[in-house]
Amino acid sequence: MRFTRSKAFVMAAGLALSLAACGDAGEDDTDAPEVEVSENAAEQFEDGTAMKELAEDGAITIGVKFDQPGIGFKGATDDAPKGFDPEIGKILAADLGIPADKIKWQETISDNREPFLTEGQVDLVIASYSITDERRTVVGQAGPYYVTGQQLLVRSDSDIETIDDVKGMEVCSVTGSTSLDNIKAEGAKPRGFDTYSECVDQVLDGTVDAMTTDGAILLGYAAENPDELKVVVDPFSEERYGVGYSLDRPEMCEWISETLTEAEESGAWDEAFEATLGQSGVETPEPPAIDECPAA
Ligand code: GLU
Repeated sequence: MRFTRSKAFVMAAGLALSLAACGDAGEDDTDAPEVEVSENAAEQFEDGTAMKELAEDGAITIGVKFDQPGIGFKGATDDAPKGFDPEIGKILAADLGIPADKIKWQETISDNREPFLTEGQVDLVIASYSITDERRTVVGQAGPYYVTGQQLLVRSDSDIETIDDVKGMEVCSVTGSTSLDNIKAEGAKPRGFDTYSECVDQVLDGTVDAMTTDGAILLGYAAENPDELKVVVDPFSEERYGVGYSLDRPEMCEWISETLTEAEESGAWDEAFEATLGQSGVETPEPPAIDECPAA
């Protein structure tokens, strides 16, 4: 079932890119794109849908990461997180008529994304959240809105160049991530932490030989420490980032997918990327095609 809505009320404008921001994806020296908030949004959705309820409430809770520069990062003095995931959250909220200052940002770590959705602590999870068949048995995942691949982050003086070089080496990642599972299969000695920021500290102080997760996340850390860290090896997995929702609200899938598609077509997606992940010097990719939603 599709939800009829008037077109193109998600538009981004006023993006001011600062060249000085290059190489420092976690800092607030870039203006985020302005996202146009839909008017009379509640009227656009059918009664009984999650979208109607959220639009009527005028508020939404979104789970994002707080420690991944470029993806989802909230500094100690920041009011709200910054990064590509929060920008996708703002685009979705705006479609419900909810402005950015009415979004409650809930920090999620990799391991609590499913329980936060199934227990109703958040309405959506947008947190470098790869779509997997296993996760889709527990939660809904619409998308993908971004595709990346797993790589390694090592100290600048490291000799690690290929994935074969990590056999028998200590490599950290995060519990509950696809990254920890994938690196086990490569013959490394896996070390699991709660967050990627804890893991990167282990690389910096030499406790582990490397850290592994999605290239998009690693680039953010490398950009913060360009003299000490580098990203190596060709991507050895495909990570398709999806927007998580509760399987109790299956109607959200069509709405998320439509809104993402509109953002990809209107240029809002590009502007969100350029203002966040693009700041680490990565070229803006073609936005990915969105999966079909499961049959109702
Ligand atoms: N994208 C992978 C995942 O969802 C790794 C990044 C993360 O843990 O957030 O497991």
